[in-house]
Parts: sequence; C-alpha cells; structure tokens
Amino acid sequence: MYQIIDGKMISTQIKDECKERVAAYKEQGIDICLAVIQVGNDPASSVYVNNKKKACEYIGIRSLSYELPEETTQEELISLIEKLNADDSVNGILVQLPVPKHIDEDIIISTISPKKDVDGFHTQSVGALCIGQPGYVSCTPAGIIELLKRSNISIEGKECVVIGRSNIVGKPMSILMLRENATVTIAHSRTKDLKDICKRADILIVAIGRPEMITSEYIKDGAVVIDVGIHRRENNKLCGDVLFDDVAPHCSAITPVPGGVGPMTIAMLMKNCVDSVSLT
Ligand code: NDP
Repeated sequence: MYQIIDGKMISTQIKDECKERVAAYKEQGIDICLAVIQVGNDPASSVYVNNKKKACEYIGIRSLSYELPEETTQEELISLIEKLNADDSVNGILVQLPVPKHIDEDIIISTISPKKDVDGFHTQSVGALCIGQPGYVSCTPAGIIELLKRSNISIEGKECVVIGRSNIVGKPMSILMLRENATVTIAHSRTKDLKDICKRADILIVAIGRPEMITSEYIKDGAVVIDVGIHRRENNKLCGDVLFDDVAPHCSAITPVPGGVGPMTIAMLMKNCVDSVSLT
C-alpha cells in the first residue's frame, strides 16, 4: 500500500508555524510586510495573487497590493520596485509572473533587491543556493523538500531523477536534492531513454508540464513520486504530469494533484517572508 503525501496538511502546519513566528515578532515590535505587484489582469494570475494575499492575512503579514494596468511600461515597473527596495517597512517584493510581453522578465527580477527576493528568482539567490550560502530558495522546490522530510522520506544516498530543467522548478530542485545528498540526474526534452533513466529513481520528481505523461512504465517498484504538474482538464478537474491511478500502486509514496505540491508553494512563500526578518 502506498502513502499519499498530504501537501494540504503539511502546508497548513508550515503556515501555522509561520503564524506563531509572526506573532512572536509582533511582540518585539517587528511587523512583516510583503508587496505584491500584478501587471495586467490575467485571470490565473489574479487567482494566485488573491491566494497569496489571503495567506498573508491568515499568518498576520501585512500585504501591499499594486494592481497595475496592462500598458504599464517597464520603466514605470522598475521605478515602483526601486521605491519598494528603498522602503525599510517592506520586507518582501513579489512580481506575479508572467508579466506582459513588452516587459523583460529577467530585468524585472534582477531589479528586486536580493534582500527582498522572497520568490528566490534573483540570480544572487540562485547563486547562493548553488554554493550553499544563505538566501531565498524558490518556493515550489523548497516545498518539495519539506514534503519529503515531513513525510519521513530519507533523501541521503538515494537515486533522484528530476524531469524538467526550468529556472523556477527543475534546476533549483536538483540543487536542493544534491544539497540533501541525493545522487541527482536531470532529464529534459532532449534526454534519450527517459523511461530507463526514470526507472533508476528511488525518488522521481516530475516537472514537465505535460498532463499525465508519466505512466507506470517509468516507475521503479517502491519509488517515491512527486508530481509538480498542474493542469485543468476539459471536465474542469485538475490533474498532474503523472497518471496517478496507474502509477500509485507501484510507489511507496506519491503526491496527489490537487493537494500535493500545489499548496506548498504559497506556504513556502510565507516562510520566506518570515525568514526575511533575519535576511534584511
Ligand atoms: P517549463 O515548461 O518551464 O519546463 C518544463 C520542463 O520539462 C523543461 O525543462 C522541458 O525540457 C521538460 N520537458 C518538456 N517535455 C518533455 C518531455 N517530453 N520529456 C522530458 N522532458 C520534457 O515548466 P515549469 O518547470 O515551470 O513547470 C512544470 C510543471 O509544473 C507545469 O505543469 C507547471 O504548471 C507546474 N508548476 C506547478 C507549481 C505548483 O505550485 N504546483 C509551480 C510551478 C510549476 P526542455 O528544457 O528541454 O524544454
């Protein structure tokens, strides 16, 4: 029988721990503030932004909301970020991605002060992660490490395969697993013999963005499978990159979609905001 890794429960634990830490900081007169910037009104982005604001409210973090029109120029956005960088009452700055096409995402990310980069996307945060120095870690991969640890799944010495090499999931995920002493293989769209490589994995982390692509043919018996993917099917139900019903019986543990990795991203964002007090 396989274990279902309960991201909903674990994310609530993390948010409750954050809430306690925020209350303790408040007693010392320290208030935490997150600035959330959204450019344009993409409905999916609005949902994410609202969820982040709700999480802040639950935890006791003050959130400042900037809803900018689609036609906002890159210079206007940069000037807002610079103003927030200089504001000592703001601990974290988050620009909801994607930004409209006329704005260069890389320039925007690099404008955010690394001290306030609670998404962990700044090159300085990524560099610090690579060489094992303190800094913000991208929320989804950091959340996956928490899922594994809090589910008592040991990482050290395990064969880990990460499918996907994006800057926000695959790459930081691989570095975090390496930091936890796993032996890590990174697979991507040009990888040959993907099934054989995946079948080596004690821990398989799937972040490919292709609905239900991973079937039991990719799974070693007893593997732990972490499904990062999230897709809405035609019947409006959510599914991941893993064909759950086919794969689960071969696993020792697996994350469901929804209720696995998804809720961890916001919980880790909240943790980064609380950690910002010691990083700023
Ligand atoms: P990207 O599209 O940026 O990256 C996908 C990666 O998968 C790429 O590295 C790509 O390889 C690789 N890939 C694509 N097709 C194949 C294939 N057939 N075989 C092997 N590798 C392949 O996606 P993200 O990393 O941003 O996201 C991945 C998934 O996770 C998405 O479903 C996304 O919605 C979800 N997600 C969920 C989050 C959550 O909170 N739960 C947060 C972030 C993402 P190549 O580099 O060669 O193109």
